[in-house]
Amino acid sequence: MKEKLAVPWEEVKHYCSTSGTTGAPEPIPFTRNDFERGCINNLCRATWAMGLRPIDVAQNLSGFVCFSRVSEALGATALKEHAGRGNLDNQIMLAKTTGVTVLEHLPSLALQYFDRAKELGIDLNVRLVIGLGEPWAESYKKRVEEEYGVTFKSAYGLTEAGELSGECEYGGGMHISADTCILEVIDPETHQVLAPGQEGELVVTNFFRRAVPRIRFRTSDITKILPYEPCPCGRTHPKMAAVKGRLSYVINVRGRKLFPVDVEEVLGSISDLGHEYQIIRDRPGEQERLEVRVEHRPDVKRLDDLENRLKEEFNQKLGVPSEVELVPVGSIGRALFKAQRIVAT
Ligand SMILES: [Zn+2]
Repeated sequence: MKEKLAVPWEEVKHYCSTSGTTGAPEPIPFTRNDFERGCINNLCRATWAMGLRPIDVAQNLSGFVCFSRVSEALGATALKEHAGRGNLDNQIMLAKTTGVTVLEHLPSLALQYFDRAKELGIDLNVRLVIGLGEPWAESYKKRVEEEYGVTFKSAYGLTEAGELSGECEYGGGMHISADTCILEVIDPETHQVLAPGQEGELVVTNFFRRAVPRIRFRTSDITKILPYEPCPCGRTHPKMAAVKGRLSYVINVRGRKLFPVDVEEVLGSISDLGHEYQIIRDRPGEQERLEVRVEHRPDVKRLDDLENRLKEEFNQKLGVPSEVELVPVGSIGRALFKAQRIVAT
């Protein structure tokens, strides 16, 4: 660790770590300023833009301790990450009794939270969900917004490179904290910088990381910087699109490169399906067809009709042939942290 440091050892005041989604978790050292300026300040700005206000009670289940700090810094009340001691039913009951209005969570787990509250017959007062840490299809967001009467807003950042962007009330991408970092998008193969609107790998230069400086740090995350347009909210910072996923999550079907979120976009548009799904990767490299296992709702009568409809949608919207396995709700295990959508056979 010491050889990575650009500051004297004594200036390292704490560690976070990467989540270990694609390997062993890596410890990330921070100076006090790295954390206060690079994380907390930017997150305060993003969270305010998303709509958190001092009248709110915010429950932090995201796994990121800094969110509770942010709620307090903005004058809101924080129901802290350890309240409920990791037990979902307790967390929901505490949300009810303390009047939680804002939930900070991973998108796939937020859904589990609302489904469980419904099962328990608990009517919550949550109006805003701040999601981070994983991509989520717009069609799914819309379904949950309609079903549970909440608004979803997303923030984007990486432990390795800081908090970088967040949506405002008008959406249409996430405002980049452009006075604290430079974001570029490159072609991952040629390393050429791409123009706004073109999709590629995000590269970050963060002005507030001193312990381990990040200068043109390759994130492996695929996204695009959006062509500049003035935003009705009055913020002048440019926007980036939601991250589609990591380079290593690409599924190659007959030459078409798909991300789990592309598949999710199709699934989320069909109301007869449940919320959980898996993409089966039957071999490394190119696949002949897309293979998806997905839960269907209990009241679906004609499974064969639903299966055919789904294949048709994959064909039309993604341009690939598919094999679909419909399974009852509860057949696919619920994630405890970030949802793992790709399963290798
Ligand atoms: Zn805006």
